[in-house]
Amino acid sequence: MKKTTIKKYAKLIVRIGANVQKGQSVVITCSVDQADFCALVADECYKAGAKYVNVQWSDDKLTRLKYRNESIRTLSTVLKWQEERMRWLSEELPCQIHIVSEDPDGLRGVNPTKMQKAQVNSYKVRKKYIDAMESRYQWTIAAVPGEAWAKKVFPELRKNQAVEKLWQAILETVYVTDDNDPIEVWNKVNADFKMRCEKLNRNKFEYLEYKSSNGTDFKCWLMPRSKWCGGGEYDLNGHYFNPNMPTIEVFTTPMRGRAEGTVVSTKPLSYRGQLIENFSFTFKDGKVVSCKAEKGQEILEKMISSDEGACMIGELALVPYDSPISNQNILYYETLFDENASCHIALGRGYRECVDGYESMSAEELESLGVNDSMIHVDFMIGSPDMSIVGHTFDGRDVQIFKNGNFVI
Ligand code: ZN
Ligand code: ZN
Repeated sequence: MKKTTIKKYAKLIVRIGANVQKGQSVVITCSVDQADFCALVADECYKAGAKYVNVQWSDDKLTRLKYRNESIRTLSTVLKWQEERMRWLSEELPCQIHIVSEDPDGLRGVNPTKMQKAQVNSYKVRKKYIDAMESRYQWTIAAVPGEAWAKKVFPELRKNQAVEKLWQAILETVYVTDDNDPIEVWNKVNADFKMRCEKLNRNKFEYLEYKSSNGTDFKCWLMPRSKWCGGGEYDLNGHYFNPNMPTIEVFTTPMRGRAEGTVVSTKPLSYRGQLIENFSFTFKDGKVVSCKAEKGQEILEKMISSDEGACMIGELALVPYDSPISNQNILYYETLFDENASCHIALGRGYRECVDGYESMSAEELESLGVNDSMIHVDFMIGSPDMSIVGHTFDGRDVQIFKNGNFVI
């Protein structure tokens, strides 16, 4: 991939993704094998006027060693300096840029019980900072091809070729070419999102009914104030940013505790570095009452029992079967891409910004309206070529939203 094109991508992440403002701090999370790309991003942050850039490095090998050798007690402990760092994040509110490049199955073999317990326990300390920061800072997730990930996506190619091919695929999804101005394209894409969301919001859906020949037969209720969002969004400080690069979905937050029926997955899910394949969930009174997976059953069960809200829905997202990422016909094994190639649902934490008027509501008020709360938010894909979605409106109309996998409104 041309160096100038990769640089253009780094600039896009900083300007359109996080939209770093003059005088802001930035925290970048990145895997050690992507240090060169990370430096390009940091450089663009400074050019945008960042006053401070901090990088939090990760490495799957070290993460695996940690889980293998440390006790649950040690893994669960949030050390003083780590808590101090979280306090700084919640007060300083730096932009956060997450660079994804890891092997989607890179933590296979890590004991799921150990991982879940450590995360549940440490969340008790982390939660207050996460809540304090919610919707108050700009963040974005973007991807670059790591070698192991590229080989997983294109196993038939040699390492270098696989990386190059994954670069091409990724850049296509974020509209970066050798000779265009992707910032201009993104501004137009964001305007299109706004129109689509306005159309959906005018309908005021009470519940959506999903049907597909693979066994999906499912109803999910929305809140009277549920709002459809997509593309860029504003944080509470008035900064516009694009949380996901790429993004195709329009999404909303449903009513906690009101979903019935079965949803069947149509793509594998990489959850905390391990793959779950061919799975389904059955809901009653809004909660998962049974789940089945051909691969990763134990991980799935641990996931939905992380806390009270982990077995309830936090997000419904609509993605046409016939859309740019879906038409690439690439299985990325990475939610950032796969969720934009398929209608999906998330278990766990709901999106406060999908509630009309959330800006002036407290966390308690939002929860009492029906926004789900959880330490997890895990998207899984249910879109299929014959998916039908009908929206039943509060004033009693039936509106076909999806037919044969695509939007019809
Ligand atoms: Zn989504
Ligand atoms: Zn999601």
